[in-house]
Amino acid sequence: MIVTHLQEGKGMERTLAILKPDCYKRKLTGAVLEKIEKAGFTLVAAKIVKMTKPMAESFYEVHRDKNFFPALVEFMTENRCLVAVIEKENAIEDYRKLMGSTDPAKADSGTIRKEYAESIQRNIVHGSDSPENAIREINFFFSGSELLG
Ligand code: UDP
Ligand code: MG
Repeated sequence: MIVTHLQEGKGMERTLAILKPDCYKRKLTGAVLEKIEKAGFTLVAAKIVKMTKPMAESFYEVHRDKNFFPALVEFMTENRCLVAVIEKENAIEDYRKLMGSTDPAKADSGTIRKEYAESIQRNIVHGSDSPENAIREINFFFSGSELLG
């Protein structure tokens, strides 16, 4: 079933995680997925995707007017990503906490970005930032039949 309804704040929630091209290139996907699973998230769906330029531009369209947009699109298309739907109570907020601040220099210890990210751009992971965006981003990469169960 394609997710079309808004997810409630309480109960099980799904969010989209991307293990970005720097993560893939540095062979850190296993280490990052282990951190995600150890934090209590369940993997619902996952695949490897080499994003095209139009895909990356569309995925990050909210940032189209930012000065970092062209470099961000370049980065997100430079290698494969691992995209995953992960599930947990309060998944959206809890996964944002587990990722840490966008800028690894400002990220709390124990977070994925603090441990692995090289810079504010090459920051290893993406996570949806709201229930609306989680639905949009999950449906961006996954079809209904990939999200059963
Ligand atoms: N980014 C960047 N420079 C910036 C801010 C962001 O290159 O000054 C990149 C970075 O890869 C970030 C992505 O653009 O993860 C999306 O930015 P956003 O502010 O949405 O951060 P996030 O939600 O990923 O923490
Ligand atoms: Mg964001």
